[in-house]
Amino acid sequence: MDTIWKAELKEELEQLQKLSQKRKLTEVEAAEQPWLTINHRNLLNLSSNNYLGLAGDIRLKEAMIHAVREIGTGAAASRLIVGNYPLYEQTESALAKWKGAEAGLIFSSGYSANIGMISSIIGRDGIVFSDKLNHASIVDGVILSRSEHKRYRHNDFNHLETLLKQAPFHKRKLIVTDTVFSMDGDLAKLQDLVTLKERYHAILMVDEAHSSGIFGEHGEGLVHHMKLQDKVEIQMGTFSKALGCFGAYAVGDRWLMEYFTNKMRSFIYTTALPPAILGAIYAAIRIVPNEHQRRRTLFEHSEYFRNSLLQLGFNICGSETQIIPILIGPNDQTTEFSQRLLEEGIAGIPIRPPTVPMNQARIRFSLMATHKREDLDFAIEKISLVGKQIGMIGGHTW
Ligand code: PMP
Repeated sequence: MDTIWKAELKEELEQLQKLSQKRKLTEVEAAEQPWLTINHRNLLNLSSNNYLGLAGDIRLKEAMIHAVREIGTGAAASRLIVGNYPLYEQTESALAKWKGAEAGLIFSSGYSANIGMISSIIGRDGIVFSDKLNHASIVDGVILSRSEHKRYRHNDFNHLETLLKQAPFHKRKLIVTDTVFSMDGDLAKLQDLVTLKERYHAILMVDEAHSSGIFGEHGEGLVHHMKLQDKVEIQMGTFSKALGCFGAYAVGDRWLMEYFTNKMRSFIYTTALPPAILGAIYAAIRIVPNEHQRRRTLFEHSEYFRNSLLQLGFNICGSETQIIPILIGPNDQTTEFSQRLLEEGIAGIPIRPPTVPMNQARIRFSLMATHKREDLDFAIEKISLVGKQIGMIGGHTW
């Protein structure tokens, strides 16, 4: 017989199964490509964050191999011990230059960057104002900080201002937002957030995970696109999506980067990135600013795909970017939709709670610059077919 703790944990798993929320790992080949393989089946890949198609790029591969040959496979220590090999300084300088910032700092992952930065700059006596749809790593950072957590309604300037007004003047305040929301694909109203952070003397931190490399004349991000780079204290982002690598960064004032170097536990107590990763990041930072054609193609693809789904009658959650969801609602119907898409040759992965709110399960499509227009037409035809079969579009409801 199981001990109590075993029985309880197994019961939790069974509960997930009952709610159609149990996840399992599936082996996927070639997920960096526009077409991938699952169980020997070739499927159109509409589920990758490799937005510019650089994850399999020969220039990045070569840079990675070069770094391994020159330096080795492991950093051997954390950066503050003996892991700070010269490629770090070179890459962080290139990063700061690209972003037009005084300084930059590189982290092991977006997740560890968010939990570490938030919990170092704000503590028990502070208040974090966070958009309800912010990424889980931001939510976890706030929990770790032990500060008061005020979640404002998604992109709701008035709600945020009400919460800011109620906060005691002397308390340290951090406003934090994704720039492109990872599950809805819409944009943060950055100008409004800047106005409020100035009015209420708050720190503003943005997460450019899904906009870095994509928005801005040279892919600097949404902050640059909006010309707000001098108004945002912390611009963080990841190298794991449009930049085709791994890891994350922050850019801002030099003293702030020094602060993180000294105070951020997920920076201090972790091994430096392997040279291969940093080699690829350095290459990506020099390549991405000039990849105008890839950005243009991605924008054209996104507009075409969004408009086509809207015309078919789908709710795309206000998407304005390359992340384009279709809202379905219940978990089981979302899973069925995804399953039928799979049968039709499309990898469109269902996103269910807790990643999205209850009853807002969806299929999240994401596009790549390396998709062809005929790939998109194929997808639109199949999504329309499944939508009609299931009764979601074409006059029927569930
Ligand atoms: N922030 C956002 C908005 C994300 O979508 C993600 C990951 N998908 C992260 C942070 C975490 O980044 P990483 O995968 O590099 O840990």
